[in-house]
Amino acid sequence: MTSYAQEHGAINLSQGFPDFDAPSEILENAVRALRSGQNQYARSMGYQPLVEALSEKIQQHYKLKYDPYTELVVCSGATEAMASTFLGLLNPGDEVVFFEPYYDSYPACAAIAGAVGRYYTLRFPDFSIDFKELEKCFSRRTRLLVLNTPHNPTGKVFTQAELEGIAALCEKHDTVVAADEVYEHLTYDGAKHVPIASIPGMRERTLTISSAAKTFSLTGWKVGWASGPAQLIAAVQAAHQFLTFAVATPFQAAIAMVLQSDNSEYYRKLREQYLERRDLLLKALKETGFRVSVPAGTYYILADFTRLLDCDDRAFARYLVKQCKVAAIPPSVFYTRDPSEGKRLVRFAFCKKIETLSEAALNLKNLAV
Ligand code: PMP
Repeated sequence: MTSYAQEHGAINLSQGFPDFDAPSEILENAVRALRSGQNQYARSMGYQPLVEALSEKIQQHYKLKYDPYTELVVCSGATEAMASTFLGLLNPGDEVVFFEPYYDSYPACAAIAGAVGRYYTLRFPDFSIDFKELEKCFSRRTRLLVLNTPHNPTGKVFTQAELEGIAALCEKHDTVVAADEVYEHLTYDGAKHVPIASIPGMRERTLTISSAAKTFSLTGWKVGWASGPAQLIAAVQAAHQFLTFAVATPFQAAIAMVLQSDNSEYYRKLREQYLERRDLLLKALKETGFRVSVPAGTYYILADFTRLLDCDDRAFARYLVKQCKVAAIPPSVFYTRDPSEGKRLVRFAFCKKIETLSEAALNLKNLAV
């Protein structure tokens, strides 16, 4: 969709990358690291000051303790942390439980590991969980459950009660959780991000994955990490060592430097700015005639377009680019079990400047019924 948007000169609300820069202080940190000769291979499990700073940050935010040297690994983004998790933990034929719609790298990486996916469909607009149905996704071969909260593309923030329900199933079926929490700092309207590792009994069976991409608007740096009990981290590291070996040293150094200071004001402002962007786009979509699900987290909105045009999501996404020069993602590609659920929806990303979103809002008026 990004190249299709470029081809047609459309405003790109499809791919989830900001059209504004990261805080200049972090960019300067990277320049300093580059100029001070930190340009050779980093420690494979992560540049020492970064794993130390991450261990401190996780403890401060969630009261979870991870040893920086044995219970943390820095990867080339959350994507590689997830790929290393699949490759390190799964044998061919093992089963993985996914919630769909999903971040599309998960099933692809599971396939590389020879694993088999079992899918639970979260349904628009409330994306609630029927635990009896969810349990049907488990079998004797289930090894891993992938949980993404706050969730791309629905914007769902899993509640404490939902996490407890998932935790109970994972304990009952002796399943490890890979928790993708890259949107941990993007929650709205009082929704609180709760790491599943903080649910009693879960720290020992959870790998928590996060990244600098979304929190610091640095999607191009590809600095991510996994935290978990030493035995599980050793499995991730076994794959990471031979996939990428280590992550770019100056970028790790720059993230370490920013994490060494108190960022609570930065996180608060980040949320506030995203809330303003979310509300601007929500208003424009509602006025246009979309039915929307209000996201409690992430920087995506899923919208039902059936009142506007009778077609599937791919045709609608193309129509949107041509008719009003706005690009969005057709989300049926994020489903395996029930793609029809995504065929009436499109996903908009609001990680864009207010000017960009205002221009998109104006363009959307060309669609209004
Ligand atoms: N996880 C989720 C749920 C995402 O939406 C994305 C970006 N689209 C990523 C991971 C990618 O993270 P990274 O750039 O750190 O690999």
